[in-house]
Formats: sequence, structure tokens, C-alpha cells
Amino acid sequence: MNEQMQMQANALQVDLKQAKHVVFLTGAGVSTHSGIPDYRSKNGIYHGIATPPEKILSTSYLLQQPEQFYDFVQQNMYFPAAQPNPIHTWIANICNQHGWLITQNVDGLDKKADNQHVIEFHGDLYDLYCTKCGQMFSYEVYKNSFRHAKDNGIIRPGIVLYGEPIDQTKLSQSVQKVAEADLIIICGTSFVVYPFAGLLAYASPQAKIWAINKTPLPATNKVKQVVTDALDFIKLVSQTE
Ligand SMILES: [Zn+2]
Repeated sequence: MNEQMQMQANALQVDLKQAKHVVFLTGAGVSTHSGIPDYRSKNGIYHGIATPPEKILSTSYLLQQPEQFYDFVQQNMYFPAAQPNPIHTWIANICNQHGWLITQNVDGLDKKADNQHVIEFHGDLYDLYCTKCGQMFSYEVYKNSFRHAKDNGIIRPGIVLYGEPIDQTKLSQSVQKVAEADLIIICGTSFVVYPFAGLLAYASPQAKIWAINKTPLPATNKVKQVVTDALDFIKLVSQTE
């Protein structure tokens, strides 16, 4: 770990101590350390699949080809044995004291890490319901069948599929949290998916903004960028406390 990164870790720690309202904006780069593949990276599930996942992960595909949809999500998105890693835990500790997390991840790991202040912007894979009658199901049921035995309805995950809108309550709550924040930390996301990436437009002009990601963000010069693996950097920040 180089000297510059240690200085950045110290600076973030100072900002964290001064902050009253912290907001984290996270993505796949946080959960890859828990064994969840990043489906937007070239090693992720978009790679080498004949039908583009953007097409599979859509409402029309779900309803017209439910078996293929089910096989796809079972093979590529469900990792029920995955556990939170030190990034989830670090974020949860800060959020439970004075912050909120808005995440693009649908794996439920932030809730598993006992984060009480989470907005799952794109939903949760483990919120499962019948598209015919609305009944909720556990993953234990879904892992055996995507059909509701009673009415033959298709059971689907409560995630935002391509072409579906973001839940309005979550969207307005997210905007409010971002606007209130005096410290915003973007972590483990290349920050290119809208409307998620658009949330930054609501930040206060006084807010300090950090980005911790393997690749630089297409962001303004107002953002302090730490271009490294999030886990390495978070470990450094935690040791600096
Ligand atoms: Zn049903």
C-alpha cells in the first residue's frame, strides 16, 4: 500500500469524523468480495451468453419465457450462502450511527450485515412474489419451482427489471438522503447506470464526495477519487481510526 493511499485513508477518516449525515452509494464491487459476480464486468454474467442479459432480465422475457428467466437467475444471480464481507460491515456500522446506504445490489447482503439504514434501489432478489395473486414466497420455495402451485402463476423476484421503473418511494427517499448528506461515499460502482448515477445531482454544494472504485468514475473534479480495490482501501481506513 503506497504512501498516497495512506494519506487518502487519513483524509477520509477526518471527513468521516466531521460528517453529520453520511450517504453511501454502492454497487457490485462491494459484493464481489462475497463471491457475487459483477454482471457488468467482463468476467461477469454478461460475458459469453448468447441472449443478452438485458433482454433476459426484462418483464416480457419473464412472462413469455419464464423457464429461461428462472434458469438464468438461478445460475447467475442467486448465491444464498454468500456472507457479508468487511466492506458491508464497515458501511453498516457507519450507517447505523449517522448515515444511509443506497445500493444497486440486489443480493440482500447489507441487510445480512445488520445495516438498519438501507435503500435497495433496485430491489432484493429474496423478495419473491406470485405475479398472478401477489402471494409472497421464501427462497426455499422458489429454489424448487417458479410456479405457484395453487394458481400456476409465475413467481418472480422483486428486483427492477430492464424497462421497469424505480419504486417512487425509494427514489424520493434516496433524493432526500443525498440532499441531506454532508459526506457522500461512492463505493464499488462505475456509476454509469441511470437513474442511480443521477442521484449525485441532488447533492448539496457543500457536501464532500469520495469515490472508491477500481476504475475512475466519469465524475467531476469535485469528487475525490481513490482508484483501487474497495476492500484494500476500507481496511486501510478502518486501521486509521
Ligand atoms: Zn399465485
